[in-house]
Amino acid sequence: DFTINKIAAGEVVERPVSVIKELIENSIDAGATRIIVEIQEGGKKLIRITDNGCGIDSSEAEKAFLRHATSKIKSIEDLYKTFSLGFRGEALSSILSVSKVQIVTKTACEKAGTKLSYEAGKLISREAVGTVNGTTIIVSDLFFNVPARKKFLKSDRSETIQISDIINKFSVGYPDIKFEYINNKKEMFSSIGDGDVTNCIRAVHGKDISQNLIQVDMEIRDMRIWGYISNTSVYRNNKSLQYVYINGRTVRNYALSNSINEAYKSIIPLNKHSICFLNINIDPKDVDVNIHPAKLEVKFKDEHMLYKEFKSALEGILLKSNI
Ligand code: ADP
Ligand code: MG
Repeated sequence: DFTINKIAAGEVVERPVSVIKELIENSIDAGATRIIVEIQEGGKKLIRITDNGCGIDSSEAEKAFLRHATSKIKSIEDLYKTFSLGFRGEALSSILSVSKVQIVTKTACEKAGTKLSYEAGKLISREAVGTVNGTTIIVSDLFFNVPARKKFLKSDRSETIQISDIINKFSVGYPDIKFEYINNKKEMFSSIGDGDVTNCIRAVHGKDISQNLIQVDMEIRDMRIWGYISNTSVYRNNKSLQYVYINGRTVRNYALSNSINEAYKSIIPLNKHSICFLNINIDPKDVDVNIHPAKLEVKFKDEHMLYKEFKSALEGILLKSNI
């Protein structure tokens, strides 16, 4: 039903950056090692994501766009075990109900690929095409059929800032994947994809940050927390950066952010900024990633204990590096 689909789209697809996040996650889930993101006019006019992942078989392609169609879980229990980024099967159907979408895709087993065009959720055309393995999805004229939502989009510049931020986060979080980012036909950024996190951090944020990092690798209860935090020279920096990934998902968690800020403050009282790139591996059943439809916010089972133990562990590391 069309109306229901439009309402659902509001949850997952708020703005261009949410489209990009969902599409990149699909590319990562598809095993891509190279992902090209191209935008025009803050993603409002055009978003094009090209990956070299597994592709979608021509017999499955239309199914992928159905609401709640997902190839990633078989039962509701799988939701709690999943390590793949997507699992609700909502993104594609939501995106195509509020824009014009073209998908070109091919699996390694097929000779020809499939090209599908949709407008406001309706299939306009379907044809077999010659193409390389992988998937390209073009989303144009976002919200062209939902003026009320379109009105809430910000300036190109402001939408672009959010898009750049999420691409930076994916690049650092997935150092094995080569990301390329093109904005209004101009190449903004290209990561190496050689698996080295510090290389990615340098490519995205420059040497000042990548040269002042301390490696972190700790276990708190059943969690492994690893990555980099900036050393105590961070107070000279005018930038605050917190990248936190839980089982590969870039997330926001206030308890965690607070504990990082507090740790810096207690060791370096003048410090106003904290910089970290941290991965957390945790049993999926101990973290709730589904409290927000866009999966940005997470909640831990026992946030208070996490806050305290994590803060004191970080303080220990910062103190040692200060000597
Ligand atoms: P979810 O990611 O939650 O499964 P989506 O609506 O984002 O739901 O995608 C639906 C399905 O389409 C996925 O489960 C996957 O099978 C397929 N798919 C989407 N994007 C890609 C891609 N880039 N490469 C291969 N398959 C894809
Ligand atoms: Mg998805």
